[in-house]
Amino acid sequence: MVDVAKQLREVLSDLPDGVRLVAVSKFHPNADLEAAYQAGQRIFGESHEQELARKAATLPKDIEWHFIGHLQTNKVKAIVPYISMIDAVDSLKLLREIDKQAARCGRVIPVLLELHIAEEATKYGFTLDACRELLESGVWRQLEHVKICGLMMMASNVDDEAQIAAEFDQAARFFDEVRANYFADDPDFRERSWGMSQDYPVAVRHGSTMVRVGTGIFGPRVY
Ligand SMILES: *Cc1c(COP(=O)(O)O)cnc(C)c1O
Repeated sequence: MVDVAKQLREVLSDLPDGVRLVAVSKFHPNADLEAAYQAGQRIFGESHEQELARKAATLPKDIEWHFIGHLQTNKVKAIVPYISMIDAVDSLKLLREIDKQAARCGRVIPVLLELHIAEEATKYGFTLDACRELLESGVWRQLEHVKICGLMMMASNVDDEAQIAAEFDQAARFFDEVRANYFADDPDFRERSWGMSQDYPVAVRHGSTMVRVGTGIFGPRVY
């Protein structure tokens, strides 16, 4: 049995001030989330709409739920009433749908734009050029029910720490570029969400403000 509270404390002790932890609880039972909650954790990340709905209905109401995975547009409506942040917006279509559904519930949903920097071909996210194009188009400025709060990315799944660090640095430079060009007057644009169980210590040395750690807290997922 994994001692969730102990693992959580260990991860937290690695995080400098200003770096927040999203405890990635997908595929883990409520009991594990409750253990983390009892130890003080309030931000949890899930990536399946129905699993999230089940957990949100049965766990404490002051949990901040982040949707961290690829989100299909037809699932937006269900999560928008209660989601705290949608971390992986990977298309304008999704951004528009979040805006539309959020307007219907009178909410403004904080979101992050997902970048595709890693070499893996299967991952979602905007290339840097596609992200520049989206921001330059200005269409997002009309979407009053979404708030772009930063960027999110996953590094390549490799052992080469230098490569991982280089990818985080590339994302951090891109964040600075985007902030200067489009969000210079917006203090809410501040999140750099990178770092998972395998690479969060590297991520916090390379600009992360928000790590997403699952296995390192809850142990291996049983799918
Ligand atoms: C599952 C997942 C994580 C957590 O992965 P671990 O290796 O278990 O820490 C982080 N981010 C995203 C987007 C995920 O889907």
